Amino acid sequence: MKTPAFLRWCPQCQRATDNAPLPQMGSDGHRLRCLRRGSPHAFGRRLYCLECSHIWTSLELPEDYVNELLQSEKLVEEMRRELAMAKLLLAKDQRDKTAEVTEPAIKLHRAA
Ligand SMILES: [Zn+2]
Repeated sequence: MKTPAFLRWCPQCQRATDNAPLPQMGSDGHRLRCLRRGSPHAFGRRLYCLECSHIWTSLELPEDYVNELLQSEKLVEEMRRELAMAKLLLAKDQRDKTAEVTEPAIKLHRAA
């Protein structure tokens, strides 16, 4: 008997390959997962890559929810860049202020 297989993106192969579902313990209801409070529940399915033998779990979610997550990821990345720039500017400002305080003291020391 041939193993049923589905074309899926194997995380190990990093490309689409044939994957077979592994026997699941419990009912379909037990495979629903609440990922975060208030989020849609994901349906988990253990798969076996027929090319590399990697065993992994896929999660099925509504496409709109995944698109929201991707949009949030972009916003978080943008905020990280802005935070890094703010820290850089703050460090430069503090360095400039330190130089303003110490340079006159050095000149006075040399003049004496
Ligand atoms: Zn694979």
